[in-house]
Amino acid sequence: MIKTISYLGLGTMGGGMASNLLKAGYKLTVWNRNPEKSDPFARKGARVAPTPADAVRGAEVVIYSLSDDEAVDEVVFGAKGILAGIQSGQIAVDMSTVLPAMSLREQEAYAKRGVDFLDAPVFGSKSEAANAELWIMAAGNKAVFEKVKPVLEQLGQTVHYFGKNGNATAMKLVGNLIVALEMEALAEGLVLAQKAGLDLNMVMEVLKVADFRSPLIVSNGHNILKRDFSPSFALKLMLKDAGLIEKFAEGLKSPTPALRVAQRNLESAVTSGFGEENASALIKALENEAGIEVKAR
Ligand code: NAP
Repeated sequence: MIKTISYLGLGTMGGGMASNLLKAGYKLTVWNRNPEKSDPFARKGARVAPTPADAVRGAEVVIYSLSDDEAVDEVVFGAKGILAGIQSGQIAVDMSTVLPAMSLREQEAYAKRGVDFLDAPVFGSKSEAANAELWIMAAGNKAVFEKVKPVLEQLGQTVHYFGKNGNATAMKLVGNLIVALEMEALAEGLVLAQKAGLDLNMVMEVLKVADFRSPLIVSNGHNILKRDFSPSFALKLMLKDAGLIEKFAEGLKSPTPALRVAQRNLESAVTSGFGEENASALIKALENEAGIEVKAR
């Protein structure tokens, strides 16, 4: 049974997950680029490491959730990165949203050191991470997955095994393609509803119950009506994911015409300065074009 874990990357997602590991009683070491985010964990008894290479010392499992491929490149492959410290017999788990090609690159580098690797990205956002209600996908060696599964079960409400390395990150990109298009659909729909003079609270009442309802549309719709764009999934991260999906789909010659439209609006909203706001701020690109602001009366 796994008892010692290192968690690297204490952002919106990693912070919630690391807290839940402490609550579950694991002996935890943490590392974050901005050291201030480690302070609350030190107060709760975690060891705070000065570098990723040092953070992995003594851990049976090393888990990380980092922004993007560039961050993973730095934290895993950098001079004081995980690979500089990790030893044969340890297990690494990447929960970031990255390209499947990055998962394969990680797996290869770890294998050279006798280290097992799972790609294990997640669905859900800030509150699901904080409440251990994530939907987790994991890929890699089955026996390694079975060993790590009890840890993942402390972080999420479901854990799906996807087979060989790279498949879980591929599933994450498939899901985020759908998320991006739902966000685009919600934004276009609400702008049209406002232009048509509909009561937006009534619109949300219908969206809540109709056969095309979705929790993502309901929660983001309500927040847009309140003009609450506080980030649980930052707009700039959704733009990053759109780029990953585009690259991944292009490589497989799989058409994603609607993604291009969403991507254009994401880019426009980020360029207008809304990148740190929630992904639902995508609507601001359409509002700008329409010359209105979607708001409950
Ligand atoms: P976040 O709040 O922006 O946190 C990003 C983390 O990555 C922080 O710990 C940050 O460190 C670290 N980081 C970024 N660049 C780095 C670098 N070059 N070197 C070292 N550390 C670096 O992001 P998040 O929302 O937690 O997302 C984390 C991952 O989960 C992303 O891949 C995201 O796409 C994915 N994800 C997010 C959500 C969501 O709803 N938020 C949902 C599913 C999946 P600092 O604190 O020092 O900046």
